[in-house]
Amino acid sequence: MKKLDKMVEFETLSKPIQMVDVIGQYRRYQNEIDSAVLEVVRSGKYINGPYVQHFERAMEEYLGVKHAIACASGTDALQLALMAIDIKPGEEVITTPFTFAATTETIALLGARAVYVDIEPQTFNMDPEAIEAKITTKTRAILPVHLFGQPANMSRIREIAKKHHLIVIEDAAQAVGAQWNGEKVCGLGDLAAISFYPSKNLGAFGDGGMVTTSDDSLAHAVRTIANHGSERTYYHDRLGVNSRLDAIQAAILTIKLPHLDEWNDSRSRAATAYSMIFEAYPEVIRTPHVDSRANSIWHQYSIVLPKGREPVIEHLKRVGIPYNIYYPVPLHLQKAYASGSRGDFPNAEFAADHILALPMHSELTSDEVEYIARNVLEGVGI
Ligand SMILES: *Cc1c(COP(=O)(O)O)cnc(C)c1O
Repeated sequence: MKKLDKMVEFETLSKPIQMVDVIGQYRRYQNEIDSAVLEVVRSGKYINGPYVQHFERAMEEYLGVKHAIACASGTDALQLALMAIDIKPGEEVITTPFTFAATTETIALLGARAVYVDIEPQTFNMDPEAIEAKITTKTRAILPVHLFGQPANMSRIREIAKKHHLIVIEDAAQAVGAQWNGEKVCGLGDLAAISFYPSKNLGAFGDGGMVTTSDDSLAHAVRTIANHGSERTYYHDRLGVNSRLDAIQAAILTIKLPHLDEWNDSRSRAATAYSMIFEAYPEVIRTPHVDSRANSIWHQYSIVLPKGREPVIEHLKRVGIPYNIYYPVPLHLQKAYASGSRGDFPNAEFAADHILALPMHSELTSDEVEYIARNVLEGVGI
């Protein structure tokens, strides 16, 4: 704390620090968003229709994909993608144990099996070099998650998938706008799933999701499945579900999308500022590492505290700074899936035990970042 020359006292900050600021972006574009919502309400076109179509085309253009199909949530997007490849009970999907449960949940719901590979300790993303040992005759797909906004190593994952004739489904829920080798995620696999949950970088004011693909027949399958397996009203050709994006959410997202890159840049500036402060103390704080080929959109800024996170948490609680732990239990150790035991994936387990996410959003000021960082340092005893 003494080592930072510029001190910012909590009292000088205008508002309490937020973990995510879902209202700040609304305030900046309130007039536009209010009138768009009212327009949808007055149009009577609440489901599908022009607002949803307009947003889908805008996303196709932004991501550089041929098809963007809106649906009800990111979880649904994963399920629709898995149903579109016609995953069968007993088939296997290779994925990461260090992610939000939705990934494994949808695989399990369809009777398929999630087969995990450990993560790279520096990026928290699935280690591609561990994939080939897990491929069996039942393997159908690889499902990388671009965790915390950083793309997984898609060059290697695609190479392995091609060699073994596997499908790649990207879980891009946390990474809309991120790039690998200069290419945007969502266009790097056969299919991708996006979430518009309010706290995501591109967040709606409710639930929402999207599947993207550049394959015409997969796109057709996703659209049909999301619409009760029906192409012609009251004629059902395959098993489907009901998964739609509300027109109100589509209208809001259409207004937010053009600002996404600028918001992601603000997050990136905050991340750089955090890391510049922490990098002087590598023994006690490991800053998030971004692969040189990756462009992260910083959905989260998560540090690893190898000597234990409890003292930092206690200190942050005392001074009223929010924090979170993504994720405290890796999926192979979750009761619902009970598919492994401690020691199976040491890197994921170490991350789960030592990781700590600090406030990260587009409205974070540099004074706030400095104040938070200073308190983290105090928490570790510096
Ligand atoms: C948020 C999230 C999901 C699920 O998205 P919802 O819209 O909440 O259903 C899936 N995977 C990851 C990695 C996520 O972060």
